[in-house]
Amino acid sequence: MSYKVYVRNDYRPEIRWCPDQPWYHRNLNWIICLVFASLASVYLLIEQSESDNSTHAPLANESAMAQVDYSLTTSARTETLVANDQSKLEKWQTITVQTGENLSIIFDRLHLSPAVLYQVVSLGESTASLQRLTPGEQIQFRLDEGKLQALKYEPSLTTTLLVTAEDNKFRSETITTELETRVKESTGVIQDSLYQAGLDAGLSDNLIMRLINIYGWDIDFALDIRKGDHFKIIYEEQFKHGLKVGDRSILVTEFNNQGKKFRAVRYTSTDGQTGYYNEDGYSMRKAFLRTPLKFNRISSGFSLSRKHPILNRMRAHKGVDYAAPSGTPVKATGDGNVVEIGRSGGYGNMIVLRHAGIYNTVYAHLLGFAKSLKRGQHVEQGDIIGYVGKTGLATGPHLHYEFRVNGVHQNPLTVTLPKALKIPAQQMPHFHQQTSSLLAQLDHNQQTDFAAVDNHDKNELVLALDEAKNSSSPVR
Ligand SMILES: [Zn+2]
Repeated sequence: MSYKVYVRNDYRPEIRWCPDQPWYHRNLNWIICLVFASLASVYLLIEQSESDNSTHAPLANESAMAQVDYSLTTSARTETLVANDQSKLEKWQTITVQTGENLSIIFDRLHLSPAVLYQVVSLGESTASLQRLTPGEQIQFRLDEGKLQALKYEPSLTTTLLVTAEDNKFRSETITTELETRVKESTGVIQDSLYQAGLDAGLSDNLIMRLINIYGWDIDFALDIRKGDHFKIIYEEQFKHGLKVGDRSILVTEFNNQGKKFRAVRYTSTDGQTGYYNEDGYSMRKAFLRTPLKFNRISSGFSLSRKHPILNRMRAHKGVDYAAPSGTPVKATGDGNVVEIGRSGGYGNMIVLRHAGIYNTVYAHLLGFAKSLKRGQHVEQGDIIGYVGKTGLATGPHLHYEFRVNGVHQNPLTVTLPKALKIPAQQMPHFHQQTSSLLAQLDHNQQTDFAAVDNHDKNELVLALDEAKNSSSPVR
């Protein structure tokens, strides 16, 4: 205790000379200085080794973070930038665009001045995409002491806009990322619905709909599907930095419906037209849809003599009545031109389309017509031309549909519809050359495919496109 007082009162060594005290008391100041110096150097050493660690351990951490960042949103260029700029990494923040928000509101939200906003949007065409933000999109900001250092935004799946601050100015660059395409094969067996079987096989909603569209002319997916029907589909998936971002095209597919086999292969002709064809080169898309709408039931069939429900006398019914809720969209059953559109007595609001010179289709009792549809206009198969109503002589909402060949009424439900278009003979060698290996892929391992449908690994089978192309035993 005594030396404490001593130290406090006597910090100047030259006047502290007390020969009756032990050496360590006399030199206490020096000893304390030495202890402090040693402590300080030990501390510095620890500090040094810690900062060494921080350039290694957190960097590993960081590259993992940067990689997540990279795979989700940014390009290789940005990854390097983020990884090198570790001191600022924590300052990236992601802003999700809310309904009604624009860049100005977002800048305001981040307390960034209108002057900074002006500088960013004045960078020209490259930052124009920032002025067309839609809700749900994300922008990443890096702020340092409230100042904008960098901004990242992906206007599309393949482009990243990067704005960076440099010497009180901003500069922008657009980085393009190529998507990787992988070919995948899936099989499924229907238990209750194609939709469920598709989901079980790992297909997206979108892909299931496209599958239905391909076969839509041959199979009625509401009525014709049976338990045990099975399908195989080979399609392309798109990946960005190893993460799946979407589906691309269905390349080839087979559908086994009640023992009947349908196949479709994607083919792009020499003049650039792409479509789905069967093995013989017939388009999967037929000249006419069998029905022009999604209906509840057929309320009246084609008959040359029936009692009219309103007129209450015998009269031929030269069409089919499809009962459906008022407002149900009505589609053109084939490509053609509008030859009549308007009010027509008992038919009410009616449209007549002419196809290929010899076919007419009639759509009657419509609530209304598709916007801006005019006489003489060309329509494509599947285009919505009007809406179900009960105009004219009708007891309830329904579509009266007629099919005339050379002016003669035919039963739309049974008429032999014209065959689908076939690839011209001179194009067939090109068709076979382009499609034979894909079609052969359907035969590949077919036995085991359906024997082992529960084996989910099968669905994970990823085929290289080249493999598909080099496959042996082409069909034909
Ligand atoms: Zn009718």
